[in-house]
Amino acid sequence: MHVLSAASSGSSQIMTITLQEFSGSSVPAAGIRRLAVPLSQLQSTYARLLRSGVRILGVSNGLSSTAAVKPEPSPAARPARKAPAKPAHGDVPVNLYKPKAPFVGKVISNGSLLKEGAIGRVNHVTMDLSGGDLRYVEGQSIGIIPDGLADNGKPHKIRLYSIASTRHGDNLAGHTVSLCVRQLQYEKDGELVNGVCSTFLCDVPPGAPVRITGPVGKEMLLPDDEDANVIMLATGTGIAPMRAYLRRMFDPGERAKNPHYAFRGKAWLFMGVPTTPNLLYEEEFQSYLSAYPDNFRYTKAISREQKNGEGGRMYIQHRVAEHADEIFDLIKLDATHLYMCGLRGMEPGIDEAMATAAADRGLEWKTLRPQLKKAGRWHVETY
Ligand code: NAP
Repeated sequence: MHVLSAASSGSSQIMTITLQEFSGSSVPAAGIRRLAVPLSQLQSTYARLLRSGVRILGVSNGLSSTAAVKPEPSPAARPARKAPAKPAHGDVPVNLYKPKAPFVGKVISNGSLLKEGAIGRVNHVTMDLSGGDLRYVEGQSIGIIPDGLADNGKPHKIRLYSIASTRHGDNLAGHTVSLCVRQLQYEKDGELVNGVCSTFLCDVPPGAPVRITGPVGKEMLLPDDEDANVIMLATGTGIAPMRAYLRRMFDPGERAKNPHYAFRGKAWLFMGVPTTPNLLYEEEFQSYLSAYPDNFRYTKAISREQKNGEGGRMYIQHRVAEHADEIFDLIKLDATHLYMCGLRGMEPGIDEAMATAAADRGLEWKTLRPQLKKAGRWHVETY
């Protein structure tokens, strides 16, 4: 390196770097090349060449007769380094069945996911897709057209539900789809109103036909990378896609079905529910914890049983704030993806926790978050 400092007199002076390029193997390729650079750019060019793996044979004062004069472009003229492109997922099926010609599936099973004492009604509904071409992958949604007519006499509108099963279905036979559905109930003018589609799905008995459209959605797809880190933030039935991811990662039958996807990364689930009996798919998650303690981590926010730091209800964003440093350090890695599904209300708190962790490191979350999104590593589906 003292060669560089010895030459540092006169900023318009031209220097020549002599280098030898190598091909991927140890065999020398084209041989020796000379590069002319202004003295002011010698240091940065030298460093860049070293990083690129070429062998630097020497640096000399002045313009060699064989040197191509190609000064380093100024930082402003340099093309911006592109963020890694978001995968296009061209092979993922979408809209195989449209609203005008839905697929008619048949309910195989429909049962509660809740334990004694839980609030509300949440069902796991599995439908048979045999005889059609309705294929999907983890993280997609399907549309459901509930039976009956709306008040205007027209057929009901489609409602979208996140798929809770893997592409192989719960029975691994490849022709079923499962949903995780909470019956929507709210009060209007002093009367209890039941959501049309969620009530239809919670009530529909085995054997009944169900009109299905889709699949749709590429926002929540799981990366193919078996070494990815996958952070999942779910409130209530927002667990649906995560249940599918976790089955794909850890269910023994699924793993046997997926020779090219033997997950080895870290999966960290944050789950928000009002009470312990409202926890969804708890037995499955506990079995993954036992079998894969080094790969699966599970953090709960049980809003009406646990308190946050200010004494209020414990929400998922409070758990994220508690672990913000760890999450942030994981997110910095290119192999990490974050998925958020459920209530939109969790988003501001999660952003705030990430912004604090970023600021502690001298970084700006409002710049980083769009970059993560652009790189296809920050996946959000909230209502
Ligand atoms: P739930 O069982 O009622 O649980 C929701 C949990 O989130 C409760 O603990 C609730 O706490 C808590 N919560 C309430 N407000 C919150 C806020 N601002 N920030 C963070 N947490 C909050 O859930 P659910 O009825 O199934 O609702 C899930 C929501 O996700 C629904 O809006 C549903 O439409 C949506 N969803 C979206 C998708 C999707 O985007 N693909 C898929 C499925 C579900 P408290 O009730 O104790 O206040």
